[in-house]
Amino acid sequence: MAPFSGIRQPDEPLAAVFRRLIANLGPITLQHYMGEANARYYASKDPLGTTGDFITAPEISQMFGELIGLWLADMWIRAGRPGPVHYVELGPGRGTLARDALRSMKRCGLDTQVHFIEASPALQAVQVAAVPEAQWHADLSSVPLQGPVLIVGNEFLDALPVRQMVKTPQGWRERMVDFREGEGFVAIAGDRPMDAAAPPEFEDCAEGTLIETNPGAAAVIYEIADRLASQGGAALLIDYGYAQPQTGSTLQAVRAHAKVDPFEAPGEADLTCLVDFAMAADIARSRDVRHLGTVTQGDWLRALGIEVRAKALADIAPHHASAIVSAKNRLIDGDQMGELFKVMGLAAPGWPDGGGF
Ligand code: SAH
Repeated sequence: MAPFSGIRQPDEPLAAVFRRLIANLGPITLQHYMGEANARYYASKDPLGTTGDFITAPEISQMFGELIGLWLADMWIRAGRPGPVHYVELGPGRGTLARDALRSMKRCGLDTQVHFIEASPALQAVQVAAVPEAQWHADLSSVPLQGPVLIVGNEFLDALPVRQMVKTPQGWRERMVDFREGEGFVAIAGDRPMDAAAPPEFEDCAEGTLIETNPGAAAVIYEIADRLASQGGAALLIDYGYAQPQTGSTLQAVRAHAKVDPFEAPGEADLTCLVDFAMAADIARSRDVRHLGTVTQGDWLRALGIEVRAKALADIAPHHASAIVSAKNRLIDGDQMGELFKVMGLAAPGWPDGGGF
């Protein structure tokens, strides 16, 4: 017998929770919808890999994590080998990127403490097996305050919930999610004025224009920038995104390697939005942190020598040569991950320029 009859079942589908919430309180913000949907989605399972919902660069090839490790080690060596060093990864998934990066850093003489920022208990369990020496944190605030930080985030910022605003005849309104019988969840314009939250460069937009901001991503970039400024270090943030401000919704949902309707089954598909790298660079510069550049993943990996690394791996394992070449092409080709994905490099004041930017 359940101790309290009114308590919500922990396994109640999120769609049912949202329906009840909306019926009682009215429409919820899209930011609320996306945040809770992703929290539920990641908490419950390991979504990565061919049998999951989507695949990420570190899961495609070890070369991705290895080159990130080499980039970080090169920065650290040219900064004069300061210590003790903290490797900090945001949303490390299966721990694959960290394992590959730590291995190549060790070969360069760089031994670090390892800190994982991870919200999902299901993925934490996978990470323990991959990188047992890691320490886990709910956010950056508990990472040690002494010693340089080498911060990495691959496909982390895109999972954080966006706020969307739409220009109506009455001014900017927040995009909300309502529920309608027969239609399901639908996006609507809210009724409260949101003009104060619209970035000034969008003030004169035409009616119907939609803009996205990502308050959670902005907060993370501020924290990263402040850590770099006070402790030294460098950061690499890799995501699919845009380098100049743009308008329009970029919300999408992926399930079983196919795009699905983001409003169809909240909590059961991965919701993402493109990352606004112009915003991220502005925030870093506002804290006197060096923006080393934002370039396409293809250009960055080529500059770091992925072609040479692929050839070396193929020479060691000739029977895997064609798989190695196709994985490399998947990471760098313009019609695959090479163009849409961007790599942003940040460095502490006084730290060197980074390779590939
Ligand atoms: N970086 C990995 C995984 C990307 S998936 C890779 O490239 O394979 C997104 C990761 O971010 C997952 O590990 C997910 O659990 C984590 N995550 C998403 N939202 C988070 C949040 N708000 N706080 C901490 N981790 C989060």
